[in-house]
Amino acid sequence: MKAGLKEREQRFLMQTYRRAEVEFVRGEGALLFDEDGREYLDLLSGISVASLGHCAPPVTGAVQRQAGELLHVSNLFYTEPMVDLAERLSTRSIGGPVFFCNSGAEANECAIKVARKHAHGRGVTDPEIIVFEGDFHGRTYGALSATPGLCGNPALGPMLPGFKSTAFDDPAGLEAAFGPKTAAVLMEPIQGEAGIFPVSGETLATARRLCDESGALLIFDEVQTGVGRTGSLWAYEQTAARPDVLTTAKALGGGVAIGACVNSESLGQVLEAGDHGSTFAAGPVAASAALAVLETVDEPGVLRRIRDLGGQLSKQLLEVDGIRDVRGRGLMLGVGLDESLDARALCAELLERGFVTNSPRPDTLRLLPPFVLSDEQASSAVAAIAAGITRLRGGT
Ligand SMILES: *Cc1c(COP(=O)(O)O)cnc(C)c1O
Repeated sequence: MKAGLKEREQRFLMQTYRRAEVEFVRGEGALLFDEDGREYLDLLSGISVASLGHCAPPVTGAVQRQAGELLHVSNLFYTEPMVDLAERLSTRSIGGPVFFCNSGAEANECAIKVARKHAHGRGVTDPEIIVFEGDFHGRTYGALSATPGLCGNPALGPMLPGFKSTAFDDPAGLEAAFGPKTAAVLMEPIQGEAGIFPVSGETLATARRLCDESGALLIFDEVQTGVGRTGSLWAYEQTAARPDVLTTAKALGGGVAIGACVNSESLGQVLEAGDHGSTFAAGPVAASAALAVLETVDEPGVLRRIRDLGGQLSKQLLEVDGIRDVRGRGLMLGVGLDESLDARALCAELLERGFVTNSPRPDTLRLLPPFVLSDEQASSAVAAIAAGITRLRGGT
């Protein structure tokens, strides 16, 4: 790291993150380079953001082109990249109108507003949104209040009322939590931050059925699972349930901040002028970047490659001594370690070896590699994980 960088970070930034001891200065494809010129293989993609790799030519090119034309005019005027992007997002997902924002948390804020307003519209005066233990929806107060594992922090209270949490992946518990006040069920189809836990088809089908019977909305938070990560453009496409509202962010801009909340075609327009807004949302640069991402990812060959490489990685990982299970779909993988192993220590060991990973829980290594990862790079990652495990166990 550059001399003094850590000290200045501590003095001038709020200390809300535990950063690893490395300063990255450049990225290309699946590779990152630190301040000393050392090369790393990125298996995290900036938490599933740089899914096309670092400085992917379509994204960087679109940003450079648009930055020279028009950076920002606000949502008081028309710009074409935003409309192109909305059309593409809508027609390639659930078909209704899109609201743009700048992050995953904001996309969920919009979904919460849609759910509440929709509930009021059918006479539910005190709407309640059902959420699941372990799910993560973001850090703004609405999204935070919808995140059972974080909303209990008394130092940050009071939280937003109107959320009811229920056990993860428990269809009977979900049915019991459902009632006349239920405005929506908000869920991640595969839990990301919790450590990569897919929701069973039975729970998804139960949620869909309960919502259909009552008129409540099924909201899928695809902020982490979306934009190709699981080997289909959206995770829901590989399940039996189609949501009424879908939220996306992270990979959508390929590294540029953008989020979106999409309504289904049958739900149509719920929010009206004055109900919601954002100064920056879907500005020409972010919208152009996202269009470039969708044009690249939304191709059968690319999506097939994500599924194939994910299958290949899982298979190789399961052969490694010390790995108990591999969860997830496509290139969204949670690597469960034997009880004696500490995933955080393995993560640190891997960084030393030049591999960027993350450990969302003490027994799990999370891999969210860029889609451009080669077979050789994937194999080198598995070899490094195996060597790291051997090292942790006291070998060399
Ligand atoms: C990351 C994430 C969010 C929050 O996104 P931000 O852009 O950090 O606000 C919300 N939901 C899920 C599932 C996520 O993985």
